[in-house]
Amino acid sequence: MSDRHTGDAAALLRRHRAVLPEWLALYYDEPLEITHGEGRHVWDAEGNRYLDFFGGILTTMTAHALPEVTKAVSEQAGRILHTSSLYLSRPMVELAERVAALSGIPDARVFFTTSGTEANDTALLLATAYRRSNQILALRNSYHGRSFSAIGITGNRSWSPTTLSPLQTLYVHGGVRTRGPYAALDDAEFTEACTADLVDMLGQTGGDVAALIAEPVQGVGGFTSPPDGLLAAFREVLLEHGILWISDEVQTGWGRTGEHFWGWQAHDQAGPPDMLTFAKGIGNGMSIGGVVARAEVMDCLPANSISTFGGSPITMAAGNANLNYLLEHDLQGNARRVGGLLLERLRAASAGLGVVREVRGRGLMAGVELADPHTGDPSPKAASLVLEAARERGLLIGKGGGHATSSVLRIAPPLSLTVAEAEEGAEILEQSLRSADNELG
Ligand code: PLP
Repeated sequence: MSDRHTGDAAALLRRHRAVLPEWLALYYDEPLEITHGEGRHVWDAEGNRYLDFFGGILTTMTAHALPEVTKAVSEQAGRILHTSSLYLSRPMVELAERVAALSGIPDARVFFTTSGTEANDTALLLATAYRRSNQILALRNSYHGRSFSAIGITGNRSWSPTTLSPLQTLYVHGGVRTRGPYAALDDAEFTEACTADLVDMLGQTGGDVAALIAEPVQGVGGFTSPPDGLLAAFREVLLEHGILWISDEVQTGWGRTGEHFWGWQAHDQAGPPDMLTFAKGIGNGMSIGGVVARAEVMDCLPANSISTFGGSPITMAAGNANLNYLLEHDLQGNARRVGGLLLERLRAASAGLGVVREVRGRGLMAGVELADPHTGDPSPKAASLVLEAARERGLLIGKGGGHATSSVLRIAPPLSLTVAEAEEGAEILEQSLRSADNELG
């Protein structure tokens, strides 16, 4: 063990392992204890500073310890932390009004949850109740959360230890481009093939399907985007059958993809989805998730229902302050500009490196897919090497989840990233990729 991981951190790791589940993922051979942050940086318990290119886990949307959010949270905490959504809540109504208006969904209603999983669970509940069907279409390689029903529809098989889902899920192509039978197709051919797959799937089911759920850019699945317009082509087919479209915007919402405020807008001809789900960054680390749906769909549940903590005043205060900052500082525009530069730099840095298979992304959502330089196979080992090398140089990044996709580096810094920080991070990534290339080459 290095000096960094003697003493307290090592003892904490032993205690962690003794009491927390083995499957609770930890990054790094010597996991970090992050104690505080500011802007785009965080510090560990030993005082080392890191540039955070994973934004927590896409949760720090604007910046770490943003004073505006801290102030709003502490003012709310000084008044009351939590009451109950059985009473009126001004911060909840305010945030709901703003999210409904931003969603693009007509006659929108918003329900707040405490996580992305619970948001998707609610969307599935609504879709199945509205359509009176328990069949769901999902994309291969997708990730939608860890509840029984969200895991049950997750296409990334690493997360599906059981096939006993309460829902019957039909998986269609539309996410992964770099592997599998459609790897050689261009955008138009890919769209055509995936749409044919969808039509074929519906033919087999008789069309009695509640909804299609899809991430506009697959997040955990390695930041892969379907071609623009693919979901619009799907939408035409879905409309013929009355099937709802749920856009899982847990990673792609709030301008992260740069060009668009929501990921679904890259498939603009489709118009807004029937429902969208959100979480991660809106609370800047506070637990906010939610569903936006057309009133007709949202209001199809027969019973009164609340979520005990969904929409709590303390999280809503954070959400409102964070959203103010995002909009006032045009962080979507920043994601487009700085994200574009970062992608350019990463592409240049990867040229000629056998370990890099593809650099891709939108806005501040950049993926670097790694492969074994000799066999060309996905290389989770290469990703681990780059993660460790970057950490040693003061940069935190993420990687995809699951077997094949854990070979993809995921880069998703806070949306306030500066050009200088993008340059600094790209430089460290270049060195780290070279070091992994040398080690495996
Ligand atoms: N949907 C997507 C696209 C996600 O990436 C995630 C989490 O990574 C979830 C849903 C689940 O969200 P949570 O971890 O907040 O439950």
